[in-house]
Amino acid sequence: MMDFVSTRANSPPIGLSEALRAGLAADGGLYVPAQSPSFALADFDGMDDLPAIAARFLTPFFKGDPLASELAAICASAFNFPIVRKSVGAHDTLELIHGPTAAFKDFGARFLAEALSRLEPAGAPPLTILVATSGDTGGAVAAAFAARAQFRVVILYPKGRVSQRQETQLTCWPDNVLALRVGGSFDDCQRICKALLNDPRGARFSSANSISLGRLLPQMAYYAYASVLHARAHASPLQLIIPTGNLGNALAALWARHLGLPIGEIHLACNANHGLRDFFNGGDYQAHPSLTTLASAMDVGAPSNFERLQWLIPNPNELRQAARCTSISDAQIERQVRQTYQMSGEIICPHTATAYAVAETLSGRWTLVSTAHPAKFESIIEPLLDIKIPIPPALATLLDRPTRVTDIDASTDAVRALIALH
Ligand SMILES: *Cc1c(COP(=O)(O)O)cnc(C)c1O
Repeated sequence: MMDFVSTRANSPPIGLSEALRAGLAADGGLYVPAQSPSFALADFDGMDDLPAIAARFLTPFFKGDPLASELAAICASAFNFPIVRKSVGAHDTLELIHGPTAAFKDFGARFLAEALSRLEPAGAPPLTILVATSGDTGGAVAAAFAARAQFRVVILYPKGRVSQRQETQLTCWPDNVLALRVGGSFDDCQRICKALLNDPRGARFSSANSISLGRLLPQMAYYAYASVLHARAHASPLQLIIPTGNLGNALAALWARHLGLPIGEIHLACNANHGLRDFFNGGDYQAHPSLTTLASAMDVGAPSNFERLQWLIPNPNELRQAARCTSISDAQIERQVRQTYQMSGEIICPHTATAYAVAETLSGRWTLVSTAHPAKFESIIEPLLDIKIPIPPALATLLDRPTRVTDIDASTDAVRALIALH
């Protein structure tokens, strides 16, 4: 049986189902797998689609858990949209943007919803899923949970810091989704969620943030898929450049490599929020207030998954060897969006542009991770390129719906009171 332990080591080890449901450990830490299963390419022989490779990869993590017999079904239902791999110029891309809300957050949100809905007993009072979002997570979580009567979703997002289309995706849901527009930053939203999870006062809360184990596992699974297919095709490891904010996506790649998957170098592409870059360039790790940038889903000053990374590789000098990190300015993002369009006709979102901009500075062939569809950020991209971006059908359906939102101060007590009324 696989145990999951807290990064702060003051909570007892628990099983997978409990860790998925808990969101955050009671000591305030993040859940991590206590054992390290190891993988070889041959483990995936005969498998070539994402649900099959994901289920094989996740088997050791589900071992001995009540959900073990459901793993294949969870993967098949959650991962029912494609990952597109293609070449753009001298590099390859890994497009994680073809889910229902057009950002990579759909993988984690759908996986968590499939898992938790199999754990919630029929007739129990609804479980409230708390989600702090810098724009894309909230929409993905609402889309994954909205039609499930056993759940309520409470979304906290920073006022004025998400794109209009992202905001529509956060606010276009039925009654069981409460969208709160917080007068503060993403870090405030994250802080309030953590405070509620730590002190639920009788409410039943769970979380669907980067801090949830239900995000880490499926994100590792798509890197297993991508690296296995890449290694088969090229007989070389996958070299990744990953747009990074709260460090959930990149952490999954680092962890997958740690478990033996054929992943080579990993380069984190950040926006002007530079705490991670300063650390990887030799400084001490310091949380900063978040800066507002064009790549708003990466506007994180205190990436919560850094705690998991430090747990995985406690020695700071060793940790600095595990990845490189570059910070990309808004001016570089704009230049890159234009240049990529001119050179290849590819339209990329401002987040994905950070990875493309990093690739310009490196030699060798890299796989650039595409994290959101540019149609979500049309107000930035369309004026830059003087074009209209076609909207993917799933996104278009959401954008047509009526919306509803409540404004609230960045105060845990205010949020707690409103949830109690809901
Ligand atoms: C969330 C998000 C990111 C950052 O991912 P992390 O896992 O928080 O590092 C990058 N790009 C887009 C489009 C996102 O929605």
